[in-house]
Formats: sequence, C-alpha cells, structure tokens
Amino acid sequence: MDRLQQTICALATPAGEGGIAVVRVSGPDAYPLVEKVFVPLRENRRLAGARGYTAMLGHYWLRGEEMDETIALCFRAPHSYTGEDVIELSVHGGAAMADGLVEALLLAGAAPAAPGEFTRRALEHGRLSLTQAEAVMEVIAANGRQGAALAKSALDGRLARRIGGIQSALQTLSAHLTAWVDYPEEDVPELSDTALAATLSAQKAELDALIAGYGAGAVLRHGVDCVLLGRPNVGKSTLLNLLAGFDRAIVTPVAGTTRDVVEQAVQLGEIRLNLFDTAGVRGEDEADAIEAEGIRRSWKKLDEAGLVLAVFDAAQPLAEADLAIARRCQGRPALAILNKQDLTDSTAAAQAALQPYFKKVLPLCARDDASLPLLRDAVAALLGAAQLDPHAAQLCSARQLAAATRARDALQEALRARADGFGLDAVGVCLADALQALCDLTGEDATEATIDEVFATFCVGK
Ligand code: GDP
Repeated sequence: MDRLQQTICALATPAGEGGIAVVRVSGPDAYPLVEKVFVPLRENRRLAGARGYTAMLGHYWLRGEEMDETIALCFRAPHSYTGEDVIELSVHGGAAMADGLVEALLLAGAAPAAPGEFTRRALEHGRLSLTQAEAVMEVIAANGRQGAALAKSALDGRLARRIGGIQSALQTLSAHLTAWVDYPEEDVPELSDTALAATLSAQKAELDALIAGYGAGAVLRHGVDCVLLGRPNVGKSTLLNLLAGFDRAIVTPVAGTTRDVVEQAVQLGEIRLNLFDTAGVRGEDEADAIEAEGIRRSWKKLDEAGLVLAVFDAAQPLAEADLAIARRCQGRPALAILNKQDLTDSTAAAQAALQPYFKKVLPLCARDDASLPLLRDAVAALLGAAQLDPHAAQLCSARQLAAATRARDALQEALRARADGFGLDAVGVCLADALQALCDLTGEDATEATIDEVFATFCVGK
C-alpha cells in the first residue's frame, strides 16, 4: 500500500514528565480512526463532524477502559501541517498516558510514524520546500534566540527567495546565451563581455556571502566546540568560573559536535560554548611527563575545535611553554586571553609577542565579572556571529552548503572560461552546472536519496 494512504501517529512532545503530552495523527483515515478511541464529553457531538481549527474535549479509551482526559485539536486537509487531515490529541504529560494513547491508536489501525514523516508528508503535499523542511529541524535544535531566528527565516521561505533571485538572474543569462549560440542567424543582440561578467560576478558574490555566513550561522544554532589552553596557574579555572556563573551554567554534560564528551557547556551571550578538557595540552617543555596518547588526543581536539581560548598570565614574562602554546594556535580560530591585567601596568609587550599567532589578543581580569561582556563580544566577533543578521536568509545544512559551493565554483569557472578567451558555449556549460547545483539546493528536483538524507536526522513526531 502506498505509504501516504496510511494514517500515521506519534508522540510529538519530548518523552518524559511535563504538563501535557501531544500525540499527532495524520492521514486520510485520521478522523474515523481517532473516533474509535476518543469519546467526546458531550454526547451529542461527534469527532467525525468536527470542522478544522476546532477543539473538542473528551476521554480516550484503551482496551475497554476509559483513560485520560483528552483534548482533540482538529485540522482539515489541506489546512494542516502535513496537508492531510490531522488531529492533535493532548493528554497529561508523563509517559503513561501518552504511551497508552499511542497504543490505542495503533490498535485502532494507525501506523507508527517514521522519523520526520509528518514533515516529509508536508513536503510531498507541497506545504513546505526542502529547505524549509531542513529549517524545521534547525528551529527545533537551536539553542540561542538568534540561532532560532536564523532557522526561522529559512522556514519562512526567505532562503528559498534569496536562492530564487540568484536562479532567475542566471536563468535569464542562460536563455540569452542559448539563443545567441544556437540561433546565430536570428537577430539576438550580442551579450557584451562586461554585462556577462557583471551578472556572473554579482551572483557569485551573493553565493560567496551565503557561504561565508554558514559557519557563523551554524555556531549560533548549535554552539561551538571550544578548548581552553594555558599553563598551570594562568587562570583557566577562574575563567571557567567566570563563564559558568550559576545563572549561565548548563549543568548536564551534552554531546558535542565532535565525538568527545563535553566537559561543560556554557552560554556566552548568543553562543553556546561546549568546553573540552584539554588537560593534556600544555607547553612542550612539560610534554615529557605526560602520556603520549593523552597529548595526541588533546592536540586532535585542538584541531577540531571551532574556538580556542588560550590563557596567559600578564603579570609574568611569557615563558617558552607559553610560546609553544601560541605557536599551536596559529591559523586557528584562537583568542589569546592575557589574564591578570590588574596585576600589571602594561600588557603591550606581551600583546605584541602574542599578536602574530592569534586572531585577537584580549587583556582581561578573569576575577572580575565586568570582563564577561568583553569576552562575549570578542568571541562573537571572532566567530563572525556579531556581523551576521539573524533575520537574513542563511544556509542551514551541510547539504545546502555543499550545493551552494558547487554553484559558486561553477560561476567562478564561467568567469575564468570567459577571461581565458573560451567561447560563450563554454560559459553556457558552466552556467548550466551552476543552475543544476541551485536546483539541488532548493530540492526542486531532489532525488529520493537526497530527501532520505535530509530526513535521516529528524526525530519521530516531527
Ligand atoms: P589555572 O591553574 O590555570 O586553572 O589557574 P587558576 O584559575 O587556578 O588561577 C591561579 C591563581 O591566579 C589563583 O590564585 C587565582 O585566584 C589567580 N587569578 C586568576 N585570575 C586572576 C586575575 O585576573 N587577577 C588576579 N589578580 N589573579 C587571578
């Protein structure tokens, strides 16, 4: 049977204790199916007769027994999330009542929803584009408000419109080129090299901007893996305490974006820092004492980190071990923190010595709470998050980034072909590649495999 003919159900709220739990049912038989398990409070009412955007109070039944009080929120196709008939059933939170309801629905003939299946149905019924479906996942995953705003602007279709603008400019150019190349006898006005180069460059710049914003956008949505480095006593623990003030600390360890377990996650302004223990990483003069495998792992974390905070003691001359750490930071997204500036009159010499290895050197007093905004702003600027408009459309998945990069590279190739004196047909081939990559990005003619890939990361109930 065609999967879309089936009516699916799943818990849509997180498992665990809470005020209410919502079970979502979607599909052609949603109403007759829910009617088998839901009995309205008012005897003269029937769920089958309910109009869209109305609610009804009642109880659900399981194996002949009246269970929890239930509110049925009714949506009628096509005016629902999936575009199908949908009923959202709210019961009391906690696993027992919600699980019982799902069991009752399965017994009544519903199929358990696969991960992301509600959103996938929305896609198949044209309620969402592929980029919007990806944004759904990002809105759920975002842990800061700006990150959520970014994902929301993709969900609102702003990303699709921004890509659409690039597509239409390139399509116009492509049509012109095709006409000129294929129908030389017709009176197609020749495209000037300047106009051609201008359009290609402008659209390439658009793609460059989107690509450049991706990293910062991902940082705002998911946080950044951060390693803290420094010799003993420079003030790392003090800095950590400053970052993890009681109102900012997230107490449970969370899995980071790398394979390691995060020691501690702290929210620094709009950015979540997943802090890693790099006890193994010290100056090279101390390296002998430390087990080689531990060091290797610590340096690897440094390679993978999206942010490196290296702490130095401003009250003491820089030691060789400090410089060894500094050298390791070169070329990385690294911020030097020149700590204990309250103990010294001048940090100029140390700043000058560290400058070549770091994106920025920040004199600081980790003991002072007033340092926190300075650190927050420096980190946001270093990661490009400060410069990003959260309401502008941004790419929001690695898949989209790969497609945008292919399109950008194809335009680059087109510009090079023209500059090297190749004919317009060569430019046309590159342009076709760019258009195909943009099509892949928006999912206009996405293959089943691409759609499967997108939905592989979804959770059940979405
Ligand atoms: P760690 O070994 O790198 O973790 O260093 P700690 O955080 O334990 O700090 C070592 C010593 O430096 C402690 O006595 C701290 O109180 C002191 N310290 C840390 N930051 C500052 C600072 O900004 N100013 C001053 N005056 N002392 C600091």
